[in-house]
Amino acid sequence: MSKPVLVIGGGVAGIQAALDLADRGLKVHLVEKSPSIGGVMAQLDKTFPTMDCSICILAPKMIECSRHPNITIHTLSQVTGVSGGPGDFKVKVIKEPRSVDESKCTGCGICSEKCPAKVKDEWQEGLTERKAIYIIFPQAVPLIACIDRDNCLYFQKGICQICSKVCPAGAIDYEQKAEEIDLDVSSIIVATGFQEYDPSELGEYGYGRFEDVITAKEFERLVCASGPTGGHLNRPSDGKIAHRVAFVQCVGSRSHKKGYPYCSSVCCMYATKEAVLIKEHEPASDVTIFYMDLKVFGQGFQEFVDRAQSHWGVKYVRGRPGEIRRNPVTKDLTIWYENTETGEVAEKEVDLAVLCTTMISRPENKELADVLGLELDEWGFFESLDPLMNPIETNRPGIYICGCCHGPRDIPESVAEASGTAACAAETARRYGQ
Ligand SMILES: Cc1cc2nc3c(=O)[nH]c(=O)nc-3n(C[C@H](O)[C@H](O)[C@H](O)COP(=O)(O)OP(=O)(O)OC[C@H]3O[C@@H](n4cnc5c(N)ncnc54)[C@H](O)[C@@H]3O)c2cc1C
Repeated sequence: MSKPVLVIGGGVAGIQAALDLADRGLKVHLVEKSPSIGGVMAQLDKTFPTMDCSICILAPKMIECSRHPNITIHTLSQVTGVSGGPGDFKVKVIKEPRSVDESKCTGCGICSEKCPAKVKDEWQEGLTERKAIYIIFPQAVPLIACIDRDNCLYFQKGICQICSKVCPAGAIDYEQKAEEIDLDVSSIIVATGFQEYDPSELGEYGYGRFEDVITAKEFERLVCASGPTGGHLNRPSDGKIAHRVAFVQCVGSRSHKKGYPYCSSVCCMYATKEAVLIKEHEPASDVTIFYMDLKVFGQGFQEFVDRAQSHWGVKYVRGRPGEIRRNPVTKDLTIWYENTETGEVAEKEVDLAVLCTTMISRPENKELADVLGLELDEWGFFESLDPLMNPIETNRPGIYICGCCHGPRDIPESVAEASGTAACAAETARRYGQ
């Protein structure tokens, strides 16, 4: 008898919240702005500290969401209006046209194969290209193609229409319009996640100028078997296998001059994970992590770091590199740093440098916060009612937050919070249900 619950954001936090609620018998609307649910976890290769294959853990949950009779997934959708209060929120959702009939597409991929228009593949972090009609990643939920109208020859120049000619299901629908959906829900869970800081403004590290200076998220795609190189560590500039790799911690974080003063909390651990992945691929590799101090506070985390050093031979150097230079002939990189334990100023030559950048809030949070009537903190993350005693409630009763939309955190913490918000939302639904 209770009204449904709205979950905004289909990353691991939103997925967990939706599943918890649905398993309690509540109807859920899961609103995701991209063509598939999954969020950042779907892009990761392995996850610390267990080193499980990330998509192998996530994909069954994504499929469960899509098959659950109590969950309706709205992809390519965003919330544009909210009124009312706990027990009775009226919500407006805009669903952008996919230009593909969801009831007909079988996800065969023939349209993408034949499409002549190529653009940078954002899901592969720009390390390769995709077509203008595409399935965002092989395990996408829903597994339905989508036309990127900004890059489609038909939408831009009125020519082509090859996808429509080759689609065996007759699913291409160029006439599809944006749809407005009205929802009546008892409570709202916000799980819109984070984005990575763009380190190109830090000129000293050469990101954006030197192809072999990449971010940790780009590295996740590079090392992944479903990534652009099939998991081989071919560096972007010339395809040479990267045997000497350096990780630079706290890029954009813990700095009052440039970037953000807070700690991103997961980078020490994911850098260790990524370093171990290199060693698993190429045990003879020379891998160094440059750090300010190691924040390894979770259960089993210190042991994970100890093993990275003692078993895998990953080197940890305390010191924030001052500059990365590139040899124009060999394309190799030189990292210039001070070892703050010995006081020695030194240089290290590497094939690839990985910048572990700050997790920052999404710029769209401002607009969404205005729509939802929520407050943001000084860094643009959604603000908790009380960070100590009430971290998942907000200033607006009946609206809850979980995962990285209110600050950097790892997957276990995001999932635990998601279950917390689901319990709160279920209680609100029970209290106000007829
Ligand atoms: C390089 C890297 C490696 C990492 N490795 C690990 C690891 O090994 N282990 C670990 O525990 N953690 C790791 N993390 C952290 C992990 O990625 C996060 O904890 C996790 O992704 C948080 O999930 P989330 O659902 O809160 O956010 P996200 O994964 O960001 O998902 C948010 C979702 O909301 C959607 N969305 C955004 N705005 C809107 C909107 N307005 N309307 C609708 N939908 C919206 C997005 O499209 C996205 O699907 C890593 C992070 C990075 C950057």
